[in-house]
Amino acid sequence: ASQILRRTLGSRYLANHRTFSSASTPIRATLFPGDGIGPEISESVKQIFHAAEVPIEWEEHYVGTEIDPRTQSFLTWESLESVRRNKVGLKGPMATPIGKGHRSLNLTLRKELNLYANVRPCYSLKGYKTRYDNVDLITIRENTEGEYSGLEHQVVRGVVESLKIITRQASLRVAEYAFHYAKAHGRERVSAIHKANIMQKTDGLFLKCCREVAEKYPEIQYEEVVIDNCCMMLVKNPALFDVLVMPNLYGDIISDLCAGLIGGLGLTPSCNIGEGGIALAEAVHGSAPDIAGKNLANPTALLLSSVTMLRHLDLHDTADRIQNAILDTIAEGKYRTADLGGSSKTTEFTKAIIDHL
Ligand code: NAD
Repeated sequence: ASQILRRTLGSRYLANHRTFSSASTPIRATLFPGDGIGPEISESVKQIFHAAEVPIEWEEHYVGTEIDPRTQSFLTWESLESVRRNKVGLKGPMATPIGKGHRSLNLTLRKELNLYANVRPCYSLKGYKTRYDNVDLITIRENTEGEYSGLEHQVVRGVVESLKIITRQASLRVAEYAFHYAKAHGRERVSAIHKANIMQKTDGLFLKCCREVAEKYPEIQYEEVVIDNCCMMLVKNPALFDVLVMPNLYGDIISDLCAGLIGGLGLTPSCNIGEGGIALAEAVHGSAPDIAGKNLANPTALLLSSVTMLRHLDLHDTADRIQNAILDTIAEGKYRTADLGGSSKTTEFTKAIIDHL
């Protein structure tokens, strides 16, 4: 499994990633514990990093209680500056109140830090049985535009309009990232997921950009799959796919579907890639308000996200050690959280991982 993750989220894919002269020099990284289950699962990461003596010094930033006029959201300017300065960070889930009229925290982060690609690896876990044991795919989601442009308004009473924005620049950038990623990680195929038969202009432009980039990578197979067909194929046989690249909303939906193939949202990590070498890792899941504060959350997704952060920093031995401890604990089956059919609390599962280090 560590080989798979090295293959999926190693550091080679980052054009501007940093190198460190000594692993013993503390590295400053930004930590957003986030909302809901965020603080509980962040605590798990902190404890495991402490036990594994990971040379990371966390710079913690909480979501503010008032709107910061400089960011127009509850995220403070200082927290964004922290990520810009450290270039690396870990983010817990942040709740988005529906219809409250302020800028979403996640959207603010993505836009302000120009986090243009969200990489979501998804692979079957040893010892945790689902219908499939051969899932090994990467979803690469365009992260800055599409239906998430935030441009919504009422046209007339009873009619609202939401704008889907697709630009050549953002589409080329994420397509380039996907092909570069595939090449750097020995992957064979990139599938562009779309609905260009209906959204001819927007998804049409996205596909055109993917085709342009595909021509520069003759060694990587390229295909285009309509999103509804893609869902059906994924559920029937996920091994048909390798790297998938797609506009924002489709990436959001498809990656949850992929999480379902391997055991659920408690398991799937992601990493946001931004310009200037920024990497902000986060779990795919949200703040899970239904189980928040109950010591029930599965910290695996955030932990595996933190492992991708360590790989980004070239701390592969530490990353392997922590990743193996997580996967061995799950495979052993004695300590599992409720979402995986077990009865362990977040804190018990965390302790079991520490014992496996
Ligand atoms: P969710 O991912 O929070 O929860 C969906 C289901 O999965 C719930 O039943 C939850 O209990 C379960 N679940 C999620 N993570 C889990 C974990 N680690 N362990 C065990 N079970 C887990 O999705 P939602 O309920 O649609 O969204 C809740 C809030 O989170 C919303 O405000 C949404 O906007 C926000 N959200 C934030 C992010 C992010 O910060 N990147 C992503 C998605 C949703």
